[in-house]
Amino acid sequence: MSPYSVLVTGANRGIGLGLVRELLKDSGIGVIVATARDIENAQKLKEVQDPRLHLLQLDVNCDKSIKTFYEKLSGVVGENGLNVLINNAGVLVNYTSEQEPSRKDLLKQIETNTISVVVLTQKLLPLLDRAASQKPPSEFSINRAAVLNISSGLGSIGNNTIGSTEKGFLAYRISKAGLNQFGKTFGIDVKNKGILVSSFCPGWVQTDMGGEQAQLTTEQSAEALVSSFHRLNAEHTGLYFDRNLKPLEF
Ligand code: NDP
Repeated sequence: MSPYSVLVTGANRGIGLGLVRELLKDSGIGVIVATARDIENAQKLKEVQDPRLHLLQLDVNCDKSIKTFYEKLSGVVGENGLNVLINNAGVLVNYTSEQEPSRKDLLKQIETNTISVVVLTQKLLPLLDRAASQKPPSEFSINRAAVLNISSGLGSIGNNTIGSTEKGFLAYRISKAGLNQFGKTFGIDVKNKGILVSSFCPGWVQTDMGGEQAQLTTEQSAEALVSSFHRLNAEHTGLYFDRNLKPLEF
């Protein structure tokens, strides 16, 4: 079994693009919606040719963009609703350990990585609800309805023994810890609707954010993540995992 529809935010490059390519290998999926802030210049995404793929503009930090996106997405998924929302779009603002992150840098990361995920997920809830209501109450999986947040191991408070490091991860850590709290809280809130919520660290991945020296290719990360998504059930909701579904400490 596969979900009918899947949405990936920030899909024009990096892990988001890797997830789209991996998901398209599943012939059971009927619709994949991939979003980009700038569709015109989303060259790599446009090169992916598949009739199931729908490209829509979305800046997760812009309410006007979210509103227009919601209307278009509703038309694409129709009466089936949306089975899976993958909140992947994220930012890391680099600064050195000698510098304190400015208010602007703190806000940018917390806005994109935390607040916008909350706002977008709440906006899309009616579509997730619609999909969930069409499956038996006993089913709890991505085939019914799920919100999957791409977090980071750096969001773990329990595993933080090294501080912000010379790379200046303070604001990023705060933003992903906030995202994890959202996943936990929202997971409890929507469990009775049959909507699964889980957060994932994709590993250290070769992207613009992860850098060339990172351990994993986008293909390796996406393959592991998608395999884990398929194994999710009621026991996993609200929790936080690595890409191989090993539990991570909040
Ligand atoms: P990239 O920097 O390569 O890509 C980030 C994506 O997010 C781009 O598509 C970007 O769009 C999009 N994005 C940023 N801001 C917005 C916005 N306001 N609205 C819509 N889209 C936006 O990062 P990765 O692919 O590496 O990261 C993907 C996710 O994985 C992030 O949430 C990140 O925190 C997480 N992660 C990554 C790790 C890594 O090692 N790479 C490790 C742990 C977690 P645009 O091109 O327009 O900027």
